[in-house]
Amino acid sequence: MTTTEWLLQLKKDGLLAYGQKNGKDYLHLKTPCKIHLTDNATKQLRDNYDPKKEKGGVLVARPKKMKSGTHLTVDSIIFLTNVSDSPANSYLPDSKELHKAHNDTLAGQSEKTLPIRFHTHPTHSDNPVYEIFNYLFQSNTSQQDRIVSDHPVSIGDIKLLMPRSLVLKSSKATGKMFVGFYNGLIAPIEFDTHKKEQMQKAMDEIFNSISAWAKKGNNKVLALGGGALLAFLLIRYSKTTIPVILLLIAMLPMFINSEHGKPKYFAQVTGGKVTIDIP
Ligand SMILES: [Zn+2]
Repeated sequence: MTTTEWLLQLKKDGLLAYGQKNGKDYLHLKTPCKIHLTDNATKQLRDNYDPKKEKGGVLVARPKKMKSGTHLTVDSIIFLTNVSDSPANSYLPDSKELHKAHNDTLAGQSEKTLPIRFHTHPTHSDNPVYEIFNYLFQSNTSQQDRIVSDHPVSIGDIKLLMPRSLVLKSSKATGKMFVGFYNGLIAPIEFDTHKKEQMQKAMDEIFNSISAWAKKGNNKVLALGGGALLAFLLIRYSKTTIPVILLLIAMLPMFINSEHGKPKYFAQVTGGKVTIDIP
């Protein structure tokens, strides 16, 4: 079976679909879609992460049609040399290696798989607090990432547009790894909108549980006391507590969308396998 025949078969089986962007036709994944990263895959990403420079390559995704939609399993990863002049803040894969990776996946002899290109953002800083900030604020696509993500893989007449992946690892202290999927005509090209939604949800839940707790008899007095204490702290130590409170709020996204919930578009992985939904 040629690669073109295989892709058209995936389309027939309902795993791929045709879509348009800026008047061009693309073949893309059909949603709902679930991407599973095995223990082995997350370990490889973790072990190969370089906190000082961008790395990248191809996630080898094995497609399977399930009742719940398109499932992709990633068990192996191909790393491609970064030939960028400034690897600390950009990623450009070696073109020969990229070509070979596309050949090894899409035109594989024993098994054909779909390539999901990924790159990392470095988080290193000599200051551990800045390292947390880097993890929080670099976990989004850059302008360049968004532009590049519109480039498909051409196979004969077919233009295949797969989602791209972004990977970041925080310092040893929190041990979290961010894995997100963007574009491919099925996911947003940035993560901020969804992160804000998740943060709002988390804050609503915290607020609801506090008010439910406060309604229970004596807890009301305690909650009022807690509010008064917080107000006192703010007045007494405003200069120092406000940044701490803001920092805690800023850190909320780090604790949500973990592999234990139902991560959508991106996940915070602490260890082992993870499944990310693209609804
Ligand atoms: Zn980037």
